[in-house]
Amino acid sequence: MNIQEYKGVFVFAQQEDNKLTSVSLELVSKGKELAADLNTEVTAVVLGSDIGAMAEKLGRYGADNVILADDPALKVYMTEPYTCVLTEIIQAKKPEIVLYGATAIGRDLAPRVSARVHTGLTADCTGLEIDPETKNLRMTRPAFGGNIMATIICPDFRPQMATVRPGVMQRISPIESHAKVENYPVNVPKESVNVEILDIIKKVSDKMDIQDAKILVSGGRGMGCPENFSLLEDLAEAFGGGTTVSSSRACVDAGWVEKDRQVGQTGKTVRPDLYIACGLSGAIQHLAGMEDSEVIIAINKDETAPIFEVADFGVVGDVTKILPMFTEQVKRSIAERKDA
Ligand code: FAD
Repeated sequence: MNIQEYKGVFVFAQQEDNKLTSVSLELVSKGKELAADLNTEVTAVVLGSDIGAMAEKLGRYGADNVILADDPALKVYMTEPYTCVLTEIIQAKKPEIVLYGATAIGRDLAPRVSARVHTGLTADCTGLEIDPETKNLRMTRPAFGGNIMATIICPDFRPQMATVRPGVMQRISPIESHAKVENYPVNVPKESVNVEILDIIKKVSDKMDIQDAKILVSGGRGMGCPENFSLLEDLAEAFGGGTTVSSSRACVDAGWVEKDRQVGQTGKTVRPDLYIACGLSGAIQHLAGMEDSEVIIAINKDETAPIFEVADFGVVGDVTKILPMFTEQVKRSIAERKDA
């Protein structure tokens, strides 16, 4: 392989129901930064059906080029057709870097493509940067249960490929789109369509996604029992819109809360304006998912709990006694503000 032939940063821009996923925009923004360090361009690749309208949005988040693989056979994600088409595009265009969101789809697609184009893949990266000397991509991710951060390079093969979880990278503020759009002639081999989708049944949740919340009230094992999570719900309700409840893995494993509420290395990465950690010790795997929150308040009865090391404000005491007082104070403050 002549790695000098490979140029440019590609992002697999995942769409669902013809809406771009947030991680795609985060990765295009990050890709722009990497491309600048390599003196090259960032290209978003979208697979789907009737997807032309997405190009402008990708341009606004930094894409210099958008490749559209538009075909009814790609309307809904299926492993084989997507793998075939994306592999073909990569083989034709020879990018030096390809980034994917570490979503269910990205995690299914990226390893297959990496095997077909015979290169490596670093999963669940939390940091990406260009080595100023070698120009290799330095891909950083937690290893050994999150106890160390490993930086991985792929010096001998191209493209260098990585998946990144939603919420880890930040979008740029939208700019004017100047993206050049290419409609890639799609060839979905018949033999690759070996699954027929009969119906799609979506899980309906009336709760806000924890990654969309401006304020997260998060509970840990120190809440004592699932019933005490109502104290967290009360505080979230007092704050009003944009607030929801999240938790540590300990509570998910105990069956107190649903998995989609879990913050951390094996849960979701969040970056709210305010994160209120209640009865949470602050294990490294939990911190990995929330330490970039704008402001962190911790309530814990143990003043030596590691969560206090990342907290901006700390309250030492019994969470079941402090939370009702906190909720009352929030209600009072909001009422006073309305009266003023
Ligand atoms: P604990 O560590 O048990 O802490 C409870 C805290 O509550 C203590 O600090 C205690 O002082 C305090 N407390 C007790 N009673 C009260 C009270 N009445 N009032 C106030 N404070 C009180 N964890 C995650 O959260 N997310 C992940 O994604 C994740 N991924 C992992 C991946 C791997 C590979 C591994 C090995 C572990 C992972 N973990 C994850 C688990 C993590 O290591 C911790 O075990 C977990 O985060 C602990 O949850 P906790 O803080 O709720 O419980």
